[in-house]
Amino acid sequence: MASPSPSPSPSPDSRRRKDAQSAAFGALPEEANHYAQLRHFGFVWSAGIVAFALITWACIALGIDESAAKCIYLTAIVFLSLIDSFVSSVVFCVIAVFCLDYFFGQPPFTLRVPSAGHLPDLLTFLAASLVITALVRHTHKLGRAQREQASLLDLTHDTIVVRDTGGAITYWNRGAQRLYGWEKDEVLGKPLHELLKTHFPVQLQQIVDTLGATGHWEGELVCTTRDGAERVIASRWSLQRGADGEPVATLESGTDITDRKRAEDALRRSEATYLAEAQKLSATGSFGWDIESGRVFWSEQSFRIFGYETDIEPTLDRVIQRIHPDDINFVHDLVEHASSGRHSLDFEHRLLMPDGTTKYLHVVAHAIEADRLRYAGAIMDITAARQTELRLQDAQAELARITRLTMLGELSASIAHEVGQPLSATVTSAEASLRWLDRDPPRLDEVKSGLTRIISEAQRSFQIVRRVRTLAQKNPVQKAAIDVNEIVNESVALIQREIFRHRVPLQLKLAHDLPLVFADRIQLQQVVINLAMNGIQALDGMIDRPRELSIETRTGPARDDPVVIAVKDNGAGISRENEARLFEAFFTTKPQGTGIGLSICRSIIEAHHGTIRASNNDGYGATFECALPRASADSVDEFSRAGSPA
Ligand code: ADP
Repeated sequence: MASPSPSPSPSPDSRRRKDAQSAAFGALPEEANHYAQLRHFGFVWSAGIVAFALITWACIALGIDESAAKCIYLTAIVFLSLIDSFVSSVVFCVIAVFCLDYFFGQPPFTLRVPSAGHLPDLLTFLAASLVITALVRHTHKLGRAQREQASLLDLTHDTIVVRDTGGAITYWNRGAQRLYGWEKDEVLGKPLHELLKTHFPVQLQQIVDTLGATGHWEGELVCTTRDGAERVIASRWSLQRGADGEPVATLESGTDITDRKRAEDALRRSEATYLAEAQKLSATGSFGWDIESGRVFWSEQSFRIFGYETDIEPTLDRVIQRIHPDDINFVHDLVEHASSGRHSLDFEHRLLMPDGTTKYLHVVAHAIEADRLRYAGAIMDITAARQTELRLQDAQAELARITRLTMLGELSASIAHEVGQPLSATVTSAEASLRWLDRDPPRLDEVKSGLTRIISEAQRSFQIVRRVRTLAQKNPVQKAAIDVNEIVNESVALIQREIFRHRVPLQLKLAHDLPLVFADRIQLQQVVINLAMNGIQALDGMIDRPRELSIETRTGPARDDPVVIAVKDNGAGISRENEARLFEAFFTTKPQGTGIGLSICRSIIEAHHGTIRASNNDGYGATFECALPRASADSVDEFSRAGSPA
C-alpha cells in the first residue's frame, strides 16, 4: 500500500519570502507568530483557570449552591470570552462544566454523574453558555465594527453631521468639532442650524422639498462657528429613510470652502480692477439697460464719462440731463426706437457738461436676451479723436485756402486782364461820352448809352474783384443748396484769361434743370478751377491735334442719382504707374507743381459726401469726375445737427 504523500510543507525559501513580506508589512515572521499565539493562549487560559479556581473556592467557602454557582461561572465565561477567541470560550465553558460537576455535583469531588437528570442539566448549561457567549461576542464585534466605522468618519476633514427629523444633532464627527469648535457632547440633541446660525442660499422650505423629492440636496451655506467667524460650507444633504420609507434622519456632509471663495472673490475683484483700468485707458464705459424696469447699470468709467459720482443711482434721466441741447431730439428718437423692439444701436452724440465743455460719444449697443428686452452696450468717449479731426479739418481748410491763394497768384495775370478789360472799356466809354457832351447841342442819348456801358463794365470788374476776394478770404464753411451750373460759370469766369492765353477752346455742356447740391460755394469753385487748370496744363505744348477741353454737368433719372461735374481734356492722359497716386498729397509730375491740388479736391468732395475719380478717355486724354449727392431734407438736417464740420 502506497503511503499517503505528505502534505507539501513550505520550502525554506518560500517561508523566508513570506517572512520577509510579513516583516515588510510590519507583521511578525510566521514562526514567531505561532509562538506568540501559543503564549497568548497560555496566558489567557491560565488566567481563566486561576479565575475559575478563585470562583470555585469562594463559592465553596461561602456555601453557595450549584444554581448560584452556575450564574457566577456563566458571568465569568462571558467576560473571559470577550477578551479572546471562540476557542477560549469553548475551553472555559468545558472547564466550568467540569467544576460544576466535580465540586457541586453529588457526590462532590468526583466526576461521576449521579442521576440521569443531572447530565442534561450540565449539557444545557454547556449549550446555553456557548450560545450566550457566541451572542455576546457577536454583539461585541458589531459594536466594535461600528466604532471602527465611526472612527473612519472622524478621519475625514469634512464635517459630517446627522440630525433627526426634528433637526436635533445625533452625530457630530471630529471634522465638525474641528471646524465649528463645539465638542460632540456639547451639541448632541441641539438643533443644528440654530446652533450654526445657518444662512441658506434659498428658502429652507425649498431645500426641504428638494430633499423630500429626490433624497439629496447640494448647495452653499454660511455657518457661524463657536468663536463667531462665518464660514462658507459646500454642503451635501442625504435623507435617510426607515424601513417604512419614512424619513428618519438627514446626513449633512460639508466642506469648508471659505478660503477658496475668498481667493475667487479676490480674483474676481482683481479681474474687475483690470477691466476698470482697461475701460479707463480706452475711455470706454459699459452700460446695461432693462427696458421693462427702466433700470440702468453703468461701469465706473461710464460714471466718469457722464461726470457723475459713483454713489448715485444711474438713470436714463441723468443721461438725458447731459445730452447736448442740439442732440436731444435725436437721442429721444433713438431711445424710443430702442424701446420699440430688439435693435442694434450704433450712433454718435454730444454731451454738454456742467462746466460748459462738449464731449463727443460713440455708443454701440444690442439687445441681449430673447425673453426680456435688455440692452448691453459700450460708450466710447471720442472727444479727443473728434477734436483732432476738427483740428485736421481746420488745417485742411487752411491748406485749401493757401492753395487757392497760390492758384490766384498763378491766375494773377488773367485776373489783372479780366479787371483791366472792363476798366479800359469804362475809360473808352467815358471819353466818348465826354466827346458827345462837347457837341453842340450835346448828344445826350449817346452820353446816356455811354454811361450805361460804364456802369455795366464797372459792375463786371466789381464782380471779378468780389469773386477773387471771396476765393482768397478765410471764410468758415458755409453749406447751402446750390446749383452746380452756377459754380461752373463762376469758376470759368475766373480762368477765362488762362483759357484764352493757352488757346484752349473750352466747351461747356451744362445740363438743364439740374437738382441742387448741398455744398460750400467757394470750395466747389476751387475744385472746378483746379480740375480745369489741370486740364489746360495737360494740353500745354500739344501740337499734333486740336486741343479740346470740356466741362459737363449731368445727373441720372433716379431720385438718388448724384449730380456729376466732369472735366475732360484730350491731352496725354494718365500713365498706368501714376494712376493710383494721383490723389496723394504732394504727388506731381510737373516741374513747378505742388501736388496738392487733387488731394484738396478729394478732401473737399469727400467732406460733401461725394466721390471723385479720374479715368483715361477712350481716345486721348483724361476725364475727372466729381459726383455729389443731391440736396435733400436729410442732408440739411444732418448738417444742422452735426454743427459745421470745417
Ligand atoms: P499739380 O498740378 O501741382 O501737379 P495736382 O494734385 O493738381 O498737383 O495733380 C497731380 C498730378 O496729377 C499732376 O502732376 C499730373 O501728373 C496728374 N494730373 C492731374 N490732372 C491731369 C490731367 N488732366 N491729365 C493728366 N494728368 C493729370
